[in-house]
Amino acid sequence: MTAASYDLLDYDEVLEKYDPVMGLEVHVELSTNSKMFSTSSARFGDEPNSNVDPTSLGLPGALPVVNATGVEYAIKIGLALNCSIAESSRFARKNYFYPDQPKNYQISQYDEPIAFDGYLDVVLEDGTEWRVEIERAHMEEDTGKLTHLGGVDGRIHGATASLVDCNRAGVPLIEIVTKPIEGAGARAPEVAKAYVGALRELVAALGVSDARMDQGSMRCDANLSLRPIGQEKFGTRTETKNINSLRSVEQAIRFEMMRQAAVLEEGGEIVQETRHYQETDGTTSKGRPKETSEDYRYFNDPDLPPVIAPREWVEQIRATLPELPWLRRARIQQEWQLSDEEMRDLVNAGALDLIVSTVEAGASADEARAWWVSYLAGKANEQGVELGELPISPEQVARVIALVREGKLTTKMGRSAVDGVLAGEGGVDEVVASRGLEVVRDDGAIEAAVDEALAANPDIVEKYRAGNTKVTGAIVGAVMKATRGKADPKQVNQLIAKKLS
Ligand code: ADP
Ligand code: MG
Repeated sequence: MTAASYDLLDYDEVLEKYDPVMGLEVHVELSTNSKMFSTSSARFGDEPNSNVDPTSLGLPGALPVVNATGVEYAIKIGLALNCSIAESSRFARKNYFYPDQPKNYQISQYDEPIAFDGYLDVVLEDGTEWRVEIERAHMEEDTGKLTHLGGVDGRIHGATASLVDCNRAGVPLIEIVTKPIEGAGARAPEVAKAYVGALRELVAALGVSDARMDQGSMRCDANLSLRPIGQEKFGTRTETKNINSLRSVEQAIRFEMMRQAAVLEEGGEIVQETRHYQETDGTTSKGRPKETSEDYRYFNDPDLPPVIAPREWVEQIRATLPELPWLRRARIQQEWQLSDEEMRDLVNAGALDLIVSTVEAGASADEARAWWVSYLAGKANEQGVELGELPISPEQVARVIALVREGKLTTKMGRSAVDGVLAGEGGVDEVVASRGLEVVRDDGAIEAAVDEALAANPDIVEKYRAGNTKVTGAIVGAVMKATRGKADPKQVNQLIAKKLS
């Protein structure tokens, strides 16, 4: 199958004529032990259909019971997003057929969500703060999972059979829906990415989800419409479904802006529809025409009583909230005395947590920052991986830093030790031993090497004595060579000065 080709309008031209409006719907799978309405395990990755029960299979007569931890986690998320928490909220049935949803309806919340009217302030790459308004965060259950066989890349298109796994059916989900995001203009894709990134960081910090976009425990649907600049009324939106990385969120928005603009420029109309994002080429393709909420025939689930959240309980939950990521960043910035820009560089490099752990393992903040943000970031860049993906731990970096600080390794040797760990040669001490990294402290040996080098370079000695003290580089080089790099250059320089003074 070849990728469909699209007419796209140049990005700058899109912005001359149109104003993008976005709406982001993020599904977060909660890391409760059991499912939202039954007791089977909510664990990811088990043998297919091993975590099922009459309720999650929708068998006749089975009755749902609400998972209190699921509700507590939903409230945590709502509070962290500055939402109001409903004293009483309700579950509704969202009716639709899907082969991995045996009940033929999904239990969700409709007009009475547990959390509503909040916001999340996100920071863009250049440090600008952007407030994303939250419309609601509601509880629902996940569907099962289909595996399509015989097609390309596991897609349904061209498949000859599909397998149903109900392990995920009934796993608690929170859906967080933004209000329309207006006015971002050229930065719309960046705002979308920053928002989903901030949300991911937030739910992970709250400990309510592992928020793994790659494993589907966090997924984003991105709505986008364009309206001619100056027009108030929103244009028609498309909804790109199940985007599973931050980079893809950014690209999906960008692509839809350029695609929709091309359609509008040709006098065409945007159809309200779902679209699928293609990781391979960064395009979106047509899904199904979008249902309206009437199509789902929502009604209150008669099997479930309203969810009551007494104020005292909400306040108890508020008291258990951990330090939120943006407050933690502000505190650390102050503790380490970093400028806004230094802090931003470090956050953008994905180095914050690594540096914190390195400091916890005994390094100073300055040392840890220097190693991660310069040397290791360079290595990550060379290898085209994220900093956190390098095969070296903060503890190992702290060990190298300690050896350099104690004078047992020169900085250069420290780098060699790091290289060895990255190359899979073992832990720091192992690499130090196998690569023979040690500063020679034996003054006798170094002194002998210095004497030898001075004797071999009478011209340099002469210049030095004539007052040009900057000429010692060749001598130091010769000593380093003679000691196979094990001398401490500082010590060598001191010795030279002593001998020639
Ligand atoms: P649906 O049931 O279609 O998923 P939701 O209300 O759950 O609808 O989510 C729609 C999302 O799109 C919300 O974030 C909303 O703010 C946003 N939105 C609504 N209208 C538009 C529009 N015309 N253009 C862009 N985004 C929109
Ligand atoms: Mg929705």
